[in-house]
Amino acid sequence: MTGRIIKIALDSPLDMEFDYRWKPATATDPDPQVGQLALVPFGRREVVGVVTAVGDASDYDADKLRDVIALRAQLPPLSPDWLALCRFAADYYQRPLGEVMLPCLPKGLRTDSTVALDRALKKRAAAAAPPKAPKKSRAAKALSDAATEASLSVAASIPATDIDAEVPVPRAAPVLNPGQQAAVDAISASEGFAAHLLFGVTGSGKTEVYLHAAQAVIARATGKGEAAQVLILVPEINLTPQLEASVRARFPQLNIVTLHSQLAEGERLRHWVAAHHGDAAIVLGTRLSVLAAMPALKLIVVDEEHDPSYKQQEGLRYSARDLAVWRARQLDIPVVLGSATPSIESWQHALNGRYRRLDLTQRAAAQAQLPRVGLIDMEVNKAPDGLSSPLVAALRARLERGEQSLLFLNRRGYAPVMHCDACGWISNCRRCTAFMVLHKPERRLRCHHCSLELRIPQSCPTCGNVDLQPLGRGTQRVEEHVQVLFPQARVLRIDADSTRRKGSAQAAFDAVHRGEVDILLGTQMVAKGHDFQRLTLVGVINPDTALFSPDYRAGERLFAQLMQVAGRAGRAAVDKGSDGQERRAEVLVQTRYPQHPLYRALLAHDYPGFAASTLEERRSAGLPPFVFQALLRAEAKQLQAALDFLQAARELMPAEGIIINDPVPMTVTRVAGVERAQLLIECASRARLQAFLKPWLAALREQKSRLRWSLEVDPVDI
Ligand code: ADP
Ligand code: ZN
Ligand code: ZN
Repeated sequence: MTGRIIKIALDSPLDMEFDYRWKPATATDPDPQVGQLALVPFGRREVVGVVTAVGDASDYDADKLRDVIALRAQLPPLSPDWLALCRFAADYYQRPLGEVMLPCLPKGLRTDSTVALDRALKKRAAAAAPPKAPKKSRAAKALSDAATEASLSVAASIPATDIDAEVPVPRAAPVLNPGQQAAVDAISASEGFAAHLLFGVTGSGKTEVYLHAAQAVIARATGKGEAAQVLILVPEINLTPQLEASVRARFPQLNIVTLHSQLAEGERLRHWVAAHHGDAAIVLGTRLSVLAAMPALKLIVVDEEHDPSYKQQEGLRYSARDLAVWRARQLDIPVVLGSATPSIESWQHALNGRYRRLDLTQRAAAQAQLPRVGLIDMEVNKAPDGLSSPLVAALRARLERGEQSLLFLNRRGYAPVMHCDACGWISNCRRCTAFMVLHKPERRLRCHHCSLELRIPQSCPTCGNVDLQPLGRGTQRVEEHVQVLFPQARVLRIDADSTRRKGSAQAAFDAVHRGEVDILLGTQMVAKGHDFQRLTLVGVINPDTALFSPDYRAGERLFAQLMQVAGRAGRAAVDKGSDGQERRAEVLVQTRYPQHPLYRALLAHDYPGFAASTLEERRSAGLPPFVFQALLRAEAKQLQAALDFLQAARELMPAEGIIINDPVPMTVTRVAGVERAQLLIECASRARLQAFLKPWLAALREQKSRLRWSLEVDPVDI
């Protein structure tokens, strides 16, 4: 044979696959295979791509085609399933295939050198070899001690490196309550594709449902002599260390790997390789892991499925939750979406029967109860320092009883803006349409949009007044005030500023779990997932701004956040105090709008009620999920240029049945000196919208505009 022509997807904005010639070096060289990685010349560089077709013909002049430099034959080809998933994502989100496939592979696979790959493969081979005697007996002991039956997985035959390092003590599974059992039964009984919406109040034990379902699915496959893999998606791995710990403790005999962007490159590659070879029985990862290659995938779990971090906000702007559901359907396997506050989209799917709802209505731990929610009317309770007297009294009572409190304020920094009373100067960022935020401990003004940093001015830049005032408050200011109020209390602030160093968030949460903190204070970082056992009070400071946001999703997000943060309280059994009175955990929300329906729903822990009214509003306003949207964004030095580009795009093609709105500046119009505008496209039919977008974007690319632009399908921030 003289050679073949192969098609390769490359990480390039050109929406095409590229033809190359392949010639065997020796007569016995096997043909290239679809799904293999290949190193090819591209312009003046050498880049790695994915083989998408192998044939004998090309539309181009065969003599002009360039030769493949090397195939990565040491790695099994990516599976047809994986290729299909990428094709779907590329199609649906309107990106070139190569820009979907390549960025989701670890860096070590995308370089011209195979050093990293070969090292990862060598480590894999070493781990598969029989371990030395003392280690073996420890691992074997762990296996025989295992409290679960899932130890028979094919994957288990390859000991995890973690087992060599330290054998975790297997933790016995608690007896499931009837709700949990019913959920596990429903999930593990599903034949083929089924999407389950696990709607469980905070603390209802959703984790146990995931673990038991994973175990059942793995055991069932093992019984049939098949390999099995489970993918568990979590919003942010750093904020969910407890889940990782639970999974490892429950399945010490299984190879469990994590996949997220904060892993070191070598580690990420090794974990990816373990998933791709089927060694890893459980992959626990953030949104990017939905695109991991997993040949024996049998179950997908999406924990906290409502979480905004499942949406990628740059490059391929995908929803990992939506791709998870698509992937499960394509593989004909079950998927579980879990939340106490599902996304409105998922709730709607459950209502119309596309998803099957599984309810957990009660807290799982013995005698744990949902906290009592109270609203503090801030029109009545003036609080110049941000904390009303009822909230202060509640904090004091917790301190006296040795219980923990949490204060939630979703705004970091000391004050969102600085201001001069004399002349009206305010701390605008000179590069953005935004304020510079006062960061007092760091003695800086910082722009949260462009990261510009300035020293705090000694006097007003305009009039010289030396008495500049902070306006409003962020977590640092509340922290300062709490320390003045309770000098003896151990106060800990957790936000993006206090946890910049790697591992510091983890250390901070550990301190809370060990009981070394009396008052925990923070942004949405403290609201998620944590199972704080000693926390009996949550105070919410100034959540009202979101009620009046122009973003139609702000209410949904606020409600979810408040339900989640409220859910941190009262996770252990209700105490009887020395006076014999029950001490139910409490959530106090400071608001100027105590009659607002959102807060009324919160009082009653009534997600279904909130969702019903939200859906009704969306239906009558013609908003998602009742219409489908795409957003074209453009950036330019001059706002008018961006608007003109969008206006021209709008007139590029007739759009029957599609609404293309007027181009408008984005809410934060200028960021780092760049003006930004957007064009919203809407349609009642997803299929029709998709049918329009494809040729429209092709025509737009033809324009070869020098402006930066991007398209987002199913946008979340409008
Ligand atoms: P969720 O994720 O639904 O908020 P978790 O999974 O964190 O809830 O579980 C809350 C608490 O309940 C945990 O401390 C967990 O160990 C405990 N728990 C879960 N299931 C049971 C059960 N069947 N019996 C007793 N405790 C349970
Ligand atoms: Zn001034
Ligand atoms: Zn800025």
